[in-house]
Amino acid sequence: MNPLSYTQISMYRACPLRYKLQYIDGLKPKDKWYFSFGSTLHLCAEYFFKVKVPPPPSLDELLDFYESSWLSEGYESAEEEAKYRAYGREILTKFWEIHRTDFKIPLAVERIFNIDIEGVKLRGFIDRVDKLDSGGLSIVDYKTNEGLFTREDLERDLQLTLYQLAVQEIWYLPVERLMLYHLRSNTPCSCQPRKASQLDEARRLVLEVAENIAQERFPAIESQYCPCDFPEHCPYYRQQYMITKPEPARQGVLPGLAAAEAVEDYVLLQAQIRELKSQLEEVRQVIIDFCHAEGLNRVFGREHAITYKLVEKTGFNEGEVRALFEPEGLWNEVLSFDQSKLEQLITDEAVAGDIREKLRALRQVISTSPRLWPRRLIEEE
Ligand code: SF4
Repeated sequence: MNPLSYTQISMYRACPLRYKLQYIDGLKPKDKWYFSFGSTLHLCAEYFFKVKVPPPPSLDELLDFYESSWLSEGYESAEEEAKYRAYGREILTKFWEIHRTDFKIPLAVERIFNIDIEGVKLRGFIDRVDKLDSGGLSIVDYKTNEGLFTREDLERDLQLTLYQLAVQEIWYLPVERLMLYHLRSNTPCSCQPRKASQLDEARRLVLEVAENIAQERFPAIESQYCPCDFPEHCPYYRQQYMITKPEPARQGVLPGLAAAEAVEDYVLLQAQIRELKSQLEEVRQVIIDFCHAEGLNRVFGREHAITYKLVEKTGFNEGEVRALFEPEGLWNEVLSFDQSKLEQLITDEAVAGDIREKLRALRQVISTSPRLWPRRLIEEE
């Protein structure tokens, strides 16, 4: 099995099918401006810190490098690209002002790692590792997200956890700090290193993902970010592509076309049923109101007659039954006050005859509901 990276693990966890399409089937995702923008800024941060001896590059050198490293892919228009290009210069200017003053050469920049977790290879690049005055290490990961990170984001970030695993293996030095560096606002957000139990949990997770991949488990898991770049291969979206882009030769036989018609028919019929139900309720009420007003039990139309009755539902009053049953020790038998159980008790030989009689006498109308029975007059004749 090829080595896994954090990006692959996180993609598998979000949607195994997307992972397969991209990393096993080799489909190429579309270019996105935010990946280009993030990669350019990452390259510049690497350039700034990767000097062999201080001082770091001057601001002009950094901005020249930025211009020559600019990645244009994925921007929707020249205006959008120009806007982000200017924004990136602003970010880097601040970055330079902040970091040139207390500049220290890091222990590692864009450090590649390959580690083994019980036979599963994990591979990646760590943006920066600093050696702290205490002798411990600080892991820094640059992010170009729009919003700042919450404490929860920091404490649950799997990437930092995996990097801690790698750094501990490479240097045999304690990791004392984990940091997500928010480039857009030049804000370092740091937290304590992960505990041994959290590292174990991350190892388990890597093994679990590797096992699922080995077993070829690739279900599609839909999320708010769907559709991804491969909707034509996804069971949630593929049918849309069967309809909108059918192969001419197959158009006539595509089962999807009939299903698509059925979807529209289904929704239409549901709407019609709702409308008809509401109309039915209206005419029903007209008949009931007329019967009430005129004291009738049957109304005649041209071809049909409808019989009206007030249907009574009999049952028991809880307080009365309780008063009868409690002294006899029978109350527990109907504790949930189950009307049908009470009906059974009336004929239950195990219950004393006088109690059954009294219970029968307690049966009363507990609700009434008007019902209509239509009948076709011609058949009757
Ligand atoms: S569109 Fe389909 S394949 Fe793509 S992420 Fe969503 S569920 Fe997965």
